[in-house]
Amino acid sequence: MKPVVCKFGGSSLADGTNIEKVCEILAKDPARKYAVVSAPGKRFSGDVKVTDLLYECYREAQENGDCSKTFEKIRKRFVSIVEELGMEGFDIGSVLDETEREIDLRKSVDFTASRGEYLNARIIAAKLGRAFVDAKDIIFFNKSGALDEAKTYPAIAEKLEKCGDAVIPGFYGTDADGNIKTFSRGGSDISGSIVARAVNAELYENWTDVSGFLACDPRIVNSPEKIEVISFKELRELSYMGANVLHADSIFPVRKGDIPIKIKNTFRPEDAGTLILPSKKYVFHGNTVTGIAGKKDFTVLFLEKSMMNGEIGFARKVLSVLEAHGIGFEHMPSGIDTLSLVLESRYLMGGLLEQLIEEIKDAVHPDYIRVLENIALVATVGHGMASSIGTSARLFAALSEAGINVRMIDQGSSELNIIVGIDNDDYEKCVRAIYHEFFEKKTDMN
Ligand code: ASP
Repeated sequence: MKPVVCKFGGSSLADGTNIEKVCEILAKDPARKYAVVSAPGKRFSGDVKVTDLLYECYREAQENGDCSKTFEKIRKRFVSIVEELGMEGFDIGSVLDETEREIDLRKSVDFTASRGEYLNARIIAAKLGRAFVDAKDIIFFNKSGALDEAKTYPAIAEKLEKCGDAVIPGFYGTDADGNIKTFSRGGSDISGSIVARAVNAELYENWTDVSGFLACDPRIVNSPEKIEVISFKELRELSYMGANVLHADSIFPVRKGDIPIKIKNTFRPEDAGTLILPSKKYVFHGNTVTGIAGKKDFTVLFLEKSMMNGEIGFARKVLSVLEAHGIGFEHMPSGIDTLSLVLESRYLMGGLLEQLIEEIKDAVHPDYIRVLENIALVATVGHGMASSIGTSARLFAALSEAGINVRMIDQGSSELNIIVGIDNDDYEKCVRAIYHEFFEKKTDMN
């Protein structure tokens, strides 16, 4: 039997009562051999995550030489977790004393931030009677800060094979100099994915506080449909455009190993959740559109030059200007004599936009440059679009009916998405119109 790797997020582990739920979930299926855990998250709105308290500890230690004031809050959180779990025999006091000493001694921001996951994993492993496997011994980064795959995957496989069912702290590993290094925030999702790949898991279950992905942002459309099955490619498009449930980088390890991910709700374990499938295992589920996502605040630079198509190196010269300023582009739709660059507006502050325009003029001498600011992008994503005739006709008819002026169109070459650029002010209206067309209007074309 291939194992299932389960990652539990901070809200699933915020207090003893929630941790009990997690223990029940793990006990329910013997395939759930490896649990990757986050630090305790918020217990109620306005509460502070343990990881945020730890960053505060680091600042305090920098200023005062020790972190005792903030660490007291962390101490209380973990002591009450241990009490709620009825673990009288577990000497959390000594573990916390040792942790506080090390934070003061090591003076490392990553070491300090990683202690929420470390402490939580120690407690949960003891509660479940499972092995505690420290992430520092199995997850390694190379000199440039990327995951050292050649060292990490064999280390995980070897260690976990020997130790039986285990609990592993998420969010960190060891860098090339032997120091603790964390992933970016929310990085326990990545740790879980790495462990799943290393043990060639049957499934990577990601347990959180929602029952999966929704077809669009619930702040824009009331109770949108849940996505039951989605491919890695669709997920990548939607997450890139702002749909957030999983850390965007967590897709890659399992994707390479063809391992599906399931998003599950710790507080409603009976809900089906969302299944994220590698392309090989993906079967079309019948919906033309899987989801809609978008982002505001883009700037479009529109260049026109007669005979542009015959001018070898035109695009390269334009892109070199961006490269020289360390700016990436989001999209680059083009016509015979036109080329548009879609850029994130936040990178163009302080006169940089004007400077870029001047440098592009010098580099390629366009006949005309126009700038469109305050543009939002909305992506309509779904494998089903490639095979359904009339999808774009429906999309644009819906936008026209809603009175939305489409400023730019970009269709990915995989026919997986259609992206429209519209005014920021039309963003919510646009998402609603597309959702209505493909999810609410029940036609036999859905
Ligand atoms: N605890 C870390 C954070 O709050 C990592 C995680 O939860 O995934 O970002």
